[in-house]
Amino acid sequence: MAAADRTHLTSVDVRDHNLGLVLARLAHSGPAARTAIALDTGLARSAVTGLVAALLEAGLVRAAAEHAPPTVGRPLELLELDGSRIGMVAAQVEVDEITVLAHDLAGRPLWQRTRRVHTPIGDAPSIAALLADAVSSCTAALTEQHIEPFSLDVVVPGLVSKDGSKVLYALDLGWTDEPFLAQVIERAPQFRGGASMHGDAQLAAYAEYMTLRRDPGLADLQHMLYVRSRTGYGAGVVTDGRLFRGGHGTALPPGHLIVQRDGELCDCGRRGCLVTLADPEILVARAGLGAVRESEGLHAAMDALVAHARAGEPAAVRTVTEAIQWIRLMLANLILSYEPEVVVLGGMLGDLVDDIAQMDDALRGFVGLGDVQGRDAFLPARLGDLAAATGAVLLRQQELLAAPVRTGLLPTGPGIQDLPGATPL
Ligand SMILES: [Zn+2]
Repeated sequence: MAAADRTHLTSVDVRDHNLGLVLARLAHSGPAARTAIALDTGLARSAVTGLVAALLEAGLVRAAAEHAPPTVGRPLELLELDGSRIGMVAAQVEVDEITVLAHDLAGRPLWQRTRRVHTPIGDAPSIAALLADAVSSCTAALTEQHIEPFSLDVVVPGLVSKDGSKVLYALDLGWTDEPFLAQVIERAPQFRGGASMHGDAQLAAYAEYMTLRRDPGLADLQHMLYVRSRTGYGAGVVTDGRLFRGGHGTALPPGHLIVQRDGELCDCGRRGCLVTLADPEILVARAGLGAVRESEGLHAAMDALVAHARAGEPAAVRTVTEAIQWIRLMLANLILSYEPEVVVLGGMLGDLVDDIAQMDDALRGFVGLGDVQGRDAFLPARLGDLAAATGAVLLRQQELLAAPVRTGLLPTGPGIQDLPGATPL
């Protein structure tokens, strides 16, 4: 590469980084004047002026309706995140339904629809076709409102390869090594910002994390463990404010942490995994709720299990009490490994959070943040069934705002490096 090209790349990268600083400032702390943006980001006031001009022109930033009160002279113009012409689309696949939702770049909800699906388990191309059709309805609606459907994130209930191309394992759907994203892409509209695929537990974890951080007492939250039971167990970890992905993207299938030495043989080939003792299917059968499972589905049967245990029904009490022992072992291992400041529990675990949180005193020192300590550091999940799709748009928003040029939101036109904002500081 010629020296001139290298210089060009570097200045574009610096400019992209600085644009990202301005956008992140407006996204996280709300409307601000140019002077405040300069102060908060550490950028020179002249650089901020240039960067803001580019962002205003691209429709990513706009003048806020309100003005800051004047200290001297005229009131200061406040700027806020715009991005109302950019749509981030997320599609969440469940066993019996598909939900597609879209937010604009500032996180304002634009569109949401859920469709029931009745597709034979294992038939990925058929589900891809249904998903692509649901996505097309969304993109058509956005386009009609003059909003560009910019990116697509597909969320599946299972483990996804780190490059986001393959579903490695989705028990509920009967998929292994399924190139589902390609099956969707060939049927769905094109997205200028690209399409990705994620496992649902990690994305739900991220959405819970971003939601918790809005609490004044948890604004500094950096490390969080999320574990939920739906059909099996799923988990996600946020560490240093970032979603932990592991080497292969499949980190933390908590159902396969070994909690009993030389226990029963598991489908994964090892012995004594949590799911051999406390898989939701096993629990509802053990508590005599097989008929509810048959007629109303697993989620209803798990709700009934918790309700029966609360009502003191002996088989349910026995089943839940025993399961909690195994679940605590799994959690203790994860807590010692990741040292989360808070532990968020979803699904049936969220219903049982008070019982599960009665852990060893020895573990207390490994969780907690500020005034949130001990049992208070164990929280039920706040977001419902669409946590994963919400997490997908939140993660996408963060990526786009952090590097608007690299992600294609802003053009890399010739001469861009000569603009004032490109000056490295
Ligand atoms: Zn296993």
